[in-house]
Amino acid sequence: MNQKFQSYIAGQWVVGQGSQADENPSDLATPVGEYGVLDAAEVAQAVDAAAAALPAWSLTSPQQRADLLDAVGSEILARKEELGRLLAMEEGKTLPESIGEAARAGQIFKFFAGEALRIPGEKLASTRPGVEVEITREPVGVVGIIAPWNFPLAIPAWKIAPALAYGNTVVFKPAEIVPGCAWAIADILARAGVPAGVFNMVLGAGRVVGQAMIGHKELDALTFTGSVPTGNALLRQAAERGLKIQLEMGGKNPLVVLADADLDKAVECAVNGAFFSTGQRCTASSRLIVESRAYDEFVAKMQARLARVKVGDPLQAGVDIGPVASQGQLDTDLSYIRAGRDEGAELLFGGERVEAPTRGHFLAPTLFAATPEQRISREEIFGPVAALIRADDYEHALALANDTEFGLCAGICTNSLKHASHFKRHAQAGMVMVNLPTAGVDPHVPFGGRKASSYGPREQGRYAVEFYTTVKTAYTAA
Ligand code: ADP
Repeated sequence: MNQKFQSYIAGQWVVGQGSQADENPSDLATPVGEYGVLDAAEVAQAVDAAAAALPAWSLTSPQQRADLLDAVGSEILARKEELGRLLAMEEGKTLPESIGEAARAGQIFKFFAGEALRIPGEKLASTRPGVEVEITREPVGVVGIIAPWNFPLAIPAWKIAPALAYGNTVVFKPAEIVPGCAWAIADILARAGVPAGVFNMVLGAGRVVGQAMIGHKELDALTFTGSVPTGNALLRQAAERGLKIQLEMGGKNPLVVLADADLDKAVECAVNGAFFSTGQRCTASSRLIVESRAYDEFVAKMQARLARVKVGDPLQAGVDIGPVASQGQLDTDLSYIRAGRDEGAELLFGGERVEAPTRGHFLAPTLFAATPEQRISREEIFGPVAALIRADDYEHALALANDTEFGLCAGICTNSLKHASHFKRHAQAGMVMVNLPTAGVDPHVPFGGRKASSYGPREQGRYAVEFYTTVKTAYTAA
């Protein structure tokens, strides 16, 4: 394949400048394609196009928007194998994970097709006689979307679909290393008949394209998923210009394993949560907090299970973990493995790159026995590297679980209803899992965290309406 992926502005494909390689992290000798980047002036055209398209789109019938989103969802579902293949080649997730993500993206478009027809409102009696009050929701306006690379179909879907469902227009900036998936989404929307300017997709670097977007006066709202430093910088910029903003950032998600748990199931939760999708999920179970009484047995079972995990080409059957998505992320992962060793954490498994027939960013799942203070226990790594931490008992485990600046997801494996109920109430996280990995969420319910993980209203499900609409209160005297 040597496709040149293009941007999409005002209903036109735009080549952009230069030619960046779209790498295949499993086989660096065979890129997925190439793409051109936009300059600030072209990004401004995209925001202008979205602003020009807003008045008409915001007044379309909900049925028109529902039909468009439904058609997009149907095409994604019908082509989930092919789209999954592109995702697996470009980002490195295994083919089954990639096909699953494509299917989820399709289902999200279909969910929000229904939501377009169910935009909620309220009618109340006024405190004044003879007056009625209506509370309605209107589109927030031109929505900027800045997305990361780790879910290159699902995350754009869960931002684009609600934005369009509620009558907003969109400028979507994908992460640099996944232009192919972004192009595929734009292509499907274009062929489904999205009116010119309603949806725009702009390829290029965050500091150029993302900055041009946020600096444009016609942008009304920005939704971002990515790293903590970038999110915090965008938050400051948004505050300066009064821009509505929603941020989903990092996690250092604890999975507590109590001695009363089914340990084989707990090991499956831990291996899936920590290492599947190469650990590149903001909900990854990167801290495994294990009660002392079960610790040695859990370690032995983890080592035996990890020895059976296969790292390799994500398109190959039987592979459990694909490559790290990029050289930059691999360098970060390896630097944390060095930090773990330097700070005296005990390496229980992995820690090394994996040889494969092709040159790629393959890394073994890596498990350290760590203390809560070590960097590998505190900082988000975003790779297949997990810290195992010993807890004296449930109370200690809960305290360790909450001892983090993040608060996206927290999990517990236990057969005790008492501890499960207590944990659900007291875990300081936006999402809690009992006897499940911390990663793996449903698309029809709210997604988001607390503390440094998130800012602003929740994403997904009916709760998405908060960010993508603005409320109007109208009074009428009879
Ligand atoms: P990661 O380190 O995982 O790539 P980033 O936060 O750097 O996470 O990237 C997430 C998204 O934010 C990407 O689409 C990236 O291009 C974009 N981005 C990065 N830096 C900026 C910036 N200064 N302004 C706007 N967007 C940015």
